[in-house]
Order: sequence, then C-alpha cells, then structure tokens
Amino acid sequence: MLSLRGLRSLRGLRAFSAAPAASASSPLKKPARPKVVIVGTGWASFRVLADIDSKKNDVTVLSPRNHLLFTPMLASSALGTVNQRSICQPVRPLVAKKEATYYESSVVGVDKEKKVVRCMTLGGQEYDLPYDKLVVGIGFQPNDFNIPGVKENALFMKETADATRFKDHILEKLEEAAYTNALDNDLRLSEEEKWRIQELLTFIVVGGGPTGVELAGELTDFLYNEVAHLYKDLKPFIRVHMFTYDLLNTFDQKLQDYALTHLRKKQNVQVHLGAFVQKVEPSVVHVKLGESAMSIRYGTLVWCAGIKPHPFVTQFGFMMNDKGTQILVDPYLKVKGEDGIYAIGDCATIEDYWLPQTAQVANQQGQYLAKSLSEDDQQKIKPFEFHNKGTMAYLGGLTAIMANLPGVNRITGFVAFLGWRFTYWFLQLSMRNRFMLSTDWLRTFIFGRDLTRFGPRSKPT
Ligand SMILES: Cc1cc2nc3c(=O)[nH]c(=O)nc-3n(C[C@H](O)[C@H](O)[C@H](O)COP(=O)(O)OP(=O)(O)OC[C@H]3O[C@@H](n4cnc5c(N)ncnc54)[C@H](O)[C@@H]3O)c2cc1C
Repeated sequence: MLSLRGLRSLRGLRAFSAAPAASASSPLKKPARPKVVIVGTGWASFRVLADIDSKKNDVTVLSPRNHLLFTPMLASSALGTVNQRSICQPVRPLVAKKEATYYESSVVGVDKEKKVVRCMTLGGQEYDLPYDKLVVGIGFQPNDFNIPGVKENALFMKETADATRFKDHILEKLEEAAYTNALDNDLRLSEEEKWRIQELLTFIVVGGGPTGVELAGELTDFLYNEVAHLYKDLKPFIRVHMFTYDLLNTFDQKLQDYALTHLRKKQNVQVHLGAFVQKVEPSVVHVKLGESAMSIRYGTLVWCAGIKPHPFVTQFGFMMNDKGTQILVDPYLKVKGEDGIYAIGDCATIEDYWLPQTAQVANQQGQYLAKSLSEDDQQKIKPFEFHNKGTMAYLGGLTAIMANLPGVNRITGFVAFLGWRFTYWFLQLSMRNRFMLSTDWLRTFIFGRDLTRFGPRSKPT
C-alpha cells in the first residue's frame, strides 16, 4: 500500500518531470494552478509559504537550508543561553500542511524565456524546475569588504554553523589558556605565559550594529558569569574589545549613548568608535582609529560588520539598484521589467522606497506577497507599505533598549529586556519553539550555560 508519505514524494517527483499533458488527461484533474516556486527559507520566503493560499497555487520551495533561522536570537544561541534548535523552524511541517513541495537545493540560474530555474542539490547534481511565478528571497551574506585576512581569520555570525563554531572556538581558547602554564613542565606562571593567556582571552567584536552589540552583550554575560565562576584564575585576563565606526546608528542619540555607557561600564567592553579594521592576521588585528593606529593580539575575532549580495544575485540578469547590490522591484514587489518574478527581503529594494534590511521588513513583504499571490482580483492589491513595529537590541546584563514602539518612543533597562524577550517569544512561528525557548531560559537561569566542548572529539568514528 502506498503511504501518505509515499504519495507526497510522488507529488514531488511530478514537478521534476513537468509533464502537463499526462496530468491534464485525468478526469479527476483539478483546475490547473499556477506553479509558484519560492526560493529560500528565510524571513521573507518562509512567510510567503506560511500565508499563501495553496489551494490556488501549486507551491514548491527551494532552499539549501531546510529551516527558518530566527536570526535575532542567533547570538543567544551562540553562547548557549538558548539551544540552537529552539530558534530554528523546520520547513517540512509547514510544507506538509500546505501540501507543497520542498527540495533541499540551491538555485544557480534562471532561464526567463523558458520560465525554469536551474537548481543544484547539496551533492552538486543539477536539474531544472518550471515556474509560472517565481519568488526570490535569498537574503545577503557577510561582507568582509575585501579587507586582507578577514575571510581567513575571522569568525562570522550568520548561520547556525557560525554560532556552533563560535562557541566551540571560545571554549577551545579557554581550555588552551587553562593549560598554558603547564606546558613548560613548571606550573608557575611566567611573564611570557601571562602574555600568551592574555592573548588567548582577548575577544574582539568588529561592528557595532545590532548583531555586534547583541553578541558583545551575550558574550560578556557568559564570560563574567559562567567563565568567571568556573575558570576563576583566568578572570583577570579576560578582555573584550569592540571596533566599530558607530554604535547602533538606527537608534536615536539618547539610546546610542545609553547603549555605549552600558557596554563600557556594566559589560566591561572596550568600545572603540571611529575605528576601521585594516588587516587581520591569524592572531593580530590592525585598526585605524582616527589619525592613529593600533594593533591588538587576540584569541577570538568575530566579524559582524556588514552584508553583501550573493554573487549570483547580480548574475540573474535582473534590473538592480544603482549600487548593483539589490534587485530592483516595483511597489508590488515585482522585479522591474520581468513578468511573474518577485523579489523580497534583503536581496531586493523597492524603487524610490528605501527600507532597512531587517527581518521585520522581510516578514512584512512575505506576508504582503502571499496575500497578493492568493488574491483573484489583482485590482484589490495596493502597493506595499512598511509599518514599523519598533526596534530593539539586547545589551547584556539583563538590559535592553526598545525604540519606536506603538505609543512609546523609548524603553531601556530591565523592563526593555523583559519586552525584548517577550516579543521574541511571541514572534516564534510555532508553540513548539515557544515551549523550547521557555524551558531554555529557565534552564539557563537555574543551571547556567553549558560549557561542553564537542570540537574535534565529537567527529564520527
Ligand atoms: C545574527 C543576525 C542577527 C539579526 N538580528 C536582527 C534583528 O534583531 N532584527 C531584525 O529585524 N533583523 C535582524 N537581522 C537581519 C535579518 O535576519 C535579515 O534582514 C533577514 O534574515 C532577511 O530575510 P531574508 O528572507 O531576505 O533572507 P534570509 O533570512 O537570510 O534568508 C535567505 C534564505 O535564502 C536561502 N538561500 C540562499 N541562497 C540560496 C540559493 N542560491 N537558492 C535557494 N535558496 C537560497 C538561504 O538558505 C535562506 O533560507 C539579523 C541578522 C543576523 C545575521
């Protein structure tokens, strides 16, 4: 007997063969629905899938990542305040609910004449998939601005793998610092060993946007709580620097000042404003600070200083913005000059309507497009309008800032921290994730963050 799962996989195979003649001959055939291919499982694309009327559309999702990552909490997961799985929403349950199809593949090309996308599996096999309507939501990637040594020596904070690597790297440096004094067969601490430990325990965050600030906040919470308690001898050696041109520039001056004071005084972060990183060597970073320059030896350097388009975004042959970095769309999120192709989220920009590249914008665009693709009467669809529901950032030490909330301009401190947590809890896309987050926070509150280092020892045998 063919199981439900079997039927679904057959349904998936049909899209590969793309044989409309055979299926049209069936007397039971439902009216043909337009084939909507959604590219990506990020904030924008996931929302399209969640909200689209799949009775009217034959939906296929293509993405190398089989889940939505709740990026605003990636820093929390990097330090173990919450588990990574608690901030990931697998795409499969939603695909099943929508009776859609998902292929774990990347899009590597678009043939606009034939209306097919060229896909590539994670194993490198290529295939074509036909579409009537194409939704492109492939986001951005970290930008190293071609600064020498960044790509080779810095850690990044974009995907779950980055968060895993970051935590593992920090624990590695801590353990290395802990045995440094024993390496010369003399347990006394020499001056040279002190310098080495100092280097291993120097943490550098580059970039003072929300990602950099939240990471610095979570990192210092971890270092001055769990690490200070469990590696007592190492505490005096811990240094955290932040190099950035400015701090949280999307917030007003009062909140920027609040954040700066909090990071410096309460979280012990040495914030260097007006800084430009010029070169990153394996354990030394060179920075220009106004007219002067400085070099610092480090054990961990994490790069949170900007984003750039995926190379193929520029190769799709779509109309782009002036800088050539984002796909240009009209007020209905349709790619300029194309038929049946839409672009949303970080990878797109609306002509004469600049919006920040945030999850909030991507999510609202996804919501809008799903509605538009499900509406029979296109006359009813109005141009996309963004409604700012507020911005916030965690600063560490159970302190946050919130701005531009409906009816309130600013909230700071512990109340903002509670607001920050509640908002993110509420914004989770499933009760499963809300439950997991709640238990994570409780676990961390009672037992602290986990310090297990899997690292190379956890390689399969
Ligand atoms: C650490 C971090 C913290 C952040 N914090 C905040 C915050 O607090 N508030 C806020 O508003 N914003 C925040 N952002 C920004 C926010 O995450 C982005 O603006 C948002 O993710 C953009 O959504 P998107 O759907 O355009 O792209 P993404 O969410 O990046 O999703 C892109 C999707 O496309 C897929 N993809 C990529 N290439 C291909 C391909 N070739 N073929 C098919 N699929 C592909 C990816 O796998 C992914 O599923 C943060 C970002 C990061 C990295």
